[in-house]
Amino acid sequence: MVAGIHRNAQAIVDLGAIKQNVELEMNRLAKGQELFAVVKADAYGHGMLEVAKTAKEAGATGFCVAIIDEGLALREAGFDDLVLILGVNPADQACLMAQNDLSVAVGDLEFLQTAAPLLAQKSLKLKVHLAFDTGMGRIGFTNEADVKAAEQFIAEHQEQFVFEGIFTHFACADTQDMSYYQVQITKFNQLKKALTRLPKYVHVANSAAAMWHQDCGGNAIRYGITMYGLNPSGRELTLPVAIKPAFSLESELVLVRKLAKGSGIGYGKTYTLDEDAYIGTVPLGYADGWLRRMQGFKVLIEGQYCPIVGRICMDQFMVKLPKAFKKGTKVTLIGQNGDKTITAQDAADYARTIHYEILCNISQRVPRIYHK
Ligand SMILES: *Cc1c(COP(=O)(O)O)cnc(C)c1O
Repeated sequence: MVAGIHRNAQAIVDLGAIKQNVELEMNRLAKGQELFAVVKADAYGHGMLEVAKTAKEAGATGFCVAIIDEGLALREAGFDDLVLILGVNPADQACLMAQNDLSVAVGDLEFLQTAAPLLAQKSLKLKVHLAFDTGMGRIGFTNEADVKAAEQFIAEHQEQFVFEGIFTHFACADTQDMSYYQVQITKFNQLKKALTRLPKYVHVANSAAAMWHQDCGGNAIRYGITMYGLNPSGRELTLPVAIKPAFSLESELVLVRKLAKGSGIGYGKTYTLDEDAYIGTVPLGYADGWLRRMQGFKVLIEGQYCPIVGRICMDQFMVKLPKAFKKGTKVTLIGQNGDKTITAQDAADYARTIHYEILCNISQRVPRIYHK
């Protein structure tokens, strides 16, 4: 996708905040525990390579991604750290992953069975992390017999596989009610016992577990959303650490005009001025990830909230202004402006989603500007 490097809209990524957020967590780790920075989906929209570099400087010893290509991009950029692909990937790409020293989540025996002959043919060894499905219902082994069979298969194919890790993923580590978390941790320990020996890495914690279930165990954590300065639980639980959001989204007024009472604004004429009013145009739209459902939400201009009026267009939207702001005045969609702030959580509340989704949606057309 073409990035809009000449446009007047940008995401500002505060790498200093990311560094600080990682360092805060490094200080909370148990002895010997490692931190893997989760940088999938272009580091939740922040920019994968810059974030990876920053996280590494702050102490991260590995990276988690979701798909093979994200792992390849890290290798191409020269990262020689552990790179774990968390999702189920095509087993027929086993050689590509092994050649690039990517570790991969294994969700079933069939993956190993398909990969083994391909790896053998090329004398390659693939690092694998067995996923245990303890209640997420997504990927992984659900019972002891299957875990044993996978371990056995790996043991019989030592020239093809390195048994590097086991892990699970929590569905409810971010809620007040801890009962389901307890169910999952119990199940994990039960499945773990089916193994005759433990691999190098045992990892269970995502950000939420790292925040509110520090005793969940394992010798690595998969640190995602909290690294970016956002609360994994949304507004439900209070964070034990003072993290700082790293992402701001800014643009500017490209046009300010006084429109007459009765004027319609945007497609479908969903908004009609009930008085003469100043209307500003912002050059950013749903193709940039500022979704149509943000109609009626607000932006910050010179420290004042201004409502988004009319439908969000593909590349532009309009705001109602309290006065004739100058053309070129900064518009903050996410971030601080004056003494006020719009958070990704605020945007998520309005769009009835989670902040993860708001940030992942900001498209590659919006250039990322990095502040140290
Ligand atoms: C995305 C993901 C994470 C990171 O989750 P956060 O809530 O961002 O910390 C950790 N583990 C797995 C398996 C994931 O898919």
